[in-house]
Amino acid sequence: MSVVIIGNGMAGHRLAQGLRRRSPDLAVTVLGAEPQPAYNRVLLSGVLAGTSSAAAVELADPGVDVRLGAQVVGIDTRQRRVQLAEGPDVGYDELVLATGSRAAIPPVDGLADPDGSPAPGVVAFRTLADCEHITELARGGPMAVVGGGLLGVEAARGLAGLGVDVTVVHPVGHLMERQLDPGGGEVLAGVLGGLGVRMRFGVSAESWRPGRLTLSDGSALDVAGVVVSAGVAPQSWLARRAGLRVDRGIVVDDRMATSVPGVHAIGECAEHRGSCHGLVGPCWEQADVLADLLSGVDPGARYTGSALVTRLKARDVDLAAMGELPGGAPGDTGDTAEVVRVSDATRGRYGALTLRDGRICGAVLLGFPEAAGPVIQLYDSGGAVPDDRFGLLLGRAAGTVTDSPAQLPARAVVCKCNGVTKREIVGAWRDGARDTAAIATATRATTGCGSCADTVDGLCGWLTESDPGPEELPVAAAREGAA
Ligand SMILES: Cc1cc2nc3c(=O)[nH]c(=O)nc-3n(C[C@H](O)[C@H](O)[C@H](O)COP(=O)(O)OP(=O)(O)OC[C@H]3O[C@@H](n4cnc5c(N)ncnc54)[C@H](O)[C@@H]3O)c2cc1C
Repeated sequence: MSVVIIGNGMAGHRLAQGLRRRSPDLAVTVLGAEPQPAYNRVLLSGVLAGTSSAAAVELADPGVDVRLGAQVVGIDTRQRRVQLAEGPDVGYDELVLATGSRAAIPPVDGLADPDGSPAPGVVAFRTLADCEHITELARGGPMAVVGGGLLGVEAARGLAGLGVDVTVVHPVGHLMERQLDPGGGEVLAGVLGGLGVRMRFGVSAESWRPGRLTLSDGSALDVAGVVVSAGVAPQSWLARRAGLRVDRGIVVDDRMATSVPGVHAIGECAEHRGSCHGLVGPCWEQADVLADLLSGVDPGARYTGSALVTRLKARDVDLAAMGELPGGAPGDTGDTAEVVRVSDATRGRYGALTLRDGRICGAVLLGFPEAAGPVIQLYDSGGAVPDDRFGLLLGRAAGTVTDSPAQLPARAVVCKCNGVTKREIVGAWRDGARDTAAIATATRATTGCGSCADTVDGLCGWLTESDPGPEELPVAAAREGAA
């Protein structure tokens, strides 16, 4: 059987790797429009900030036929063939669309050329090529970032770290309003301000002419370039043109099947149960389910949704946010949730837990790295929160404190992006992976957003010093992802 994957991004790469591992005899071809091998898009902020190189974020060769610079321009679902911009058609038995999203350019005068591409001096933040372009523009002077969401904040922090005079223009009253309540947004703004990022709230970009961004209040920023970070749209034109059902994204069921037999979709281009995801965790979970199905390893595999946790990857800012906003979503009324909140704006710390029936349904943790692990675990597992809510926020709650790796339960998920548990890390260590890099190769831990690197380091140190004891021993490095 031949499987063709369109898109060599994070979902397409994960699927190719998963198919290769599960069924080495399958003929798998990946057609990727970008010119370079697949890379970890989540870590692009580090590339922009100059703390990572392009080579450091490259993903491992999946060991299948990967064609780089191969732009797919059409699909014939009856003949089961795809057409490329250059070169002969490629036939398939099973086709997977993993085309991701494209950055949305807001309808602001001068930001886009007539064909919809960014105008001179304007750049999105989506690819390695974008990082190079941003760095190049920033050499010419101050920069503006349009949009104060997660990516806008990461871009601005990265530029400020390089010594660039940067201003975030955000039409809403506080940063990251989809993940943070106003209190959290205010404290984050204080932290970023202290790191040299300027911010303009409640104003939007009105027009761009090279060298000048005019804002809705009549003021203007004289800048060398504009980074647009105003949301993404699923890349679905190919599917639409091929007659697949497309709503916000390419509509799929729990088996990642589209409306046309033999065609599947995963990742940010897919719409599952009415949602299009913008985080890598769901994309990888979908890829794993499809790998189980296409390889025949688990015909019962189904994707039913994901618990979403957002982590900001910006130097000197530790932020994790998940679930409901404290006080409910904007516009909600009559909220009966219990909210526990602590704020220390001077030191840039803000924490809020939203609970229903004693379980976490939302959290914001800014400057509480020690609480993030236990809170994420409780959020994921739906476990009961200890009575000492403040203790949990401060990372001191009895029974949930993980101040020593020994105290972390074996089933605790250490690497959220890759779903790697402590048990699997211990297993990889016992199989010979004796440092963080080797553990990363064996289990993929740390290769997502990278924020679990300290925990994995801690586990390596603990394992080096002490035998974990039989209760910690895995039967085998059982996980499919283990080397
Ligand atoms: C700067 C940045 C930071 C991020 N940080 C986080 C984070 O901290 N946590 C998190 O969970 N998520 C984060 N994300 C989001 C995460 O990167 C995405 O959710 C993930 O990459 C989606 O994977 P995907 O494969 O669906 O799409 P992509 O990774 O975008 O891959 C799609 C690929 O398909 C290719 N393609 C599209 N059309 C065609 C075609 N016609 N022919 C051939 N190839 C085609 C594209 O060129 C691209 O290479 C971040 C994203 C960015 C840009």
